[in-house]
Amino acid sequence: MIPMTLGEIALTCGGYVHGDPRMRTVRVAGPAYLDSRTPVAGGLFVALPGDQVDGHDHAAGAHAVLGSRPTEAPTVVVPDPVVALALLARRVVERVKPKVFALTGSHGKTSTKDFLAAILPGAVATSGNRNNELGVPLTCLEVGAATDQLVLEMGARSVGHLSWLTTMAAPDVAAVLNVGTAHVGRFGSPQLIARAKGELIEGLAADGVAVLNGDDPRVMSMASRTIAPVLTFGRRGEVTWRRISMDDLGRPSFELGYQGQWAAVRLLRSGEHQVRNAAAAAAMALATGESLAAVTSRLSEVGPTPHRLEVKTRTDGLLVLDDTYNSNPDAAMAALNCLEGIGRRRTGRTVAVLGEMHELGEHAAESHRAVGALARVFGVQDVIAVGPGAALTAQESGGLHVPDQAAALEWLRANVSPQDVVLVKGSRDGGLEILVEALLDSA
Ligand code: ATP
Ligand code: MG
Repeated sequence: MIPMTLGEIALTCGGYVHGDPRMRTVRVAGPAYLDSRTPVAGGLFVALPGDQVDGHDHAAGAHAVLGSRPTEAPTVVVPDPVVALALLARRVVERVKPKVFALTGSHGKTSTKDFLAAILPGAVATSGNRNNELGVPLTCLEVGAATDQLVLEMGARSVGHLSWLTTMAAPDVAAVLNVGTAHVGRFGSPQLIARAKGELIEGLAADGVAVLNGDDPRVMSMASRTIAPVLTFGRRGEVTWRRISMDDLGRPSFELGYQGQWAAVRLLRSGEHQVRNAAAAAAMALATGESLAAVTSRLSEVGPTPHRLEVKTRTDGLLVLDDTYNSNPDAAMAALNCLEGIGRRRTGRTVAVLGEMHELGEHAAESHRAVGALARVFGVQDVIAVGPGAALTAQESGGLHVPDQAAALEWLRANVSPQDVVLVKGSRDGGLEILVEALLDSA
């Protein structure tokens, strides 16, 4: 964070510094943070009212606080700390002027962001999955005086949300990865998802670049919503790939192509869909003049992300694909494709443990059925559908339906052998990562 006094912060956020006027000169140099249990020396504690606890009641000992009422620590009092955070973020980004890379999409955002952060090693980037109205400004506030690149994952919660996020950091390069069915329950329809995601490129200036998925018609139709030039990635894109081959753990090697040149990439992440995510990140960097050689060598260094199709090996050789972070039909297709690819190279069976999927609203039944059908199409030998909502997945795949994780684990313990490969896929609130750990411990 660039150092600011509480007086400057108050002025930026439309608030006042509570108490002794000398407090106005207190300087904040550390980053902003939300959790009072992990304070940052010299940082700014943003006090928010939570469901269980109110941050304002836990501010004692903080160096400085941004809150909606006075606390025991030096406090900038503002009408709404979330809005204040946005104003502060905008101020920092406008002052330092890093090149801003922003990306959105229904899936692959975090994966693509990780690839891009590796390609641009000096960049400040979203850590983990902090892609909302809190995570985006907190990331912006990590920008220091010497930061020249900022990489932001942006999740669209509703129409208007991305417009707001981009007011904090106006993108120079903005990418829309895809429009799928993830979170469709929250939006209502894929058309509304497309409308919301397209907002990311609407604010681009004429000297910016819109990076679009050339294989996704809903994304390509957004091209008319920007005055910036468009660079496409995809099978039919300007940044493209050829000669994909997979290793025993489902990790792809391929050649990345741009402007008639090709360079080899060997990813350390499993799943063919990562080729597309890597190409999207490459396109964002190539758009600003990075060389193809630098892009491809850095892509080859990015390791796996926890719980996102992470391949784990049990001591006896059983492979477990931990994809317990999230689930929807598109992501399930990517995971089942990977399962099938790895299974083909082994002598054992392919097993898919498929949990209930959430946030699908009226599309829930159809989506659970679709995942079951996909498991059949990919020839999964044993499907275990877990939880009441997954009954249709079991029915459609011809697999087994079990009520809970314990029953799934019991089946796995009794039936899998070391030559097998087991995919465990579910929504994050389904907690299936516990099943993965138990399975790995049960050799
Ligand atoms: P979130 O909305 O939760 O932030 P995200 O867009 O950041 O998700 P990732 O975290 O990169 O996406 O991946 C989430 C899931 O989507 C993983 O389970 C992964 O297997 C799947 N996935 C990633 N990239 C793609 C892709 N290009 N196509 C289809 N599925 C994908
Ligand atoms: Mg994410």
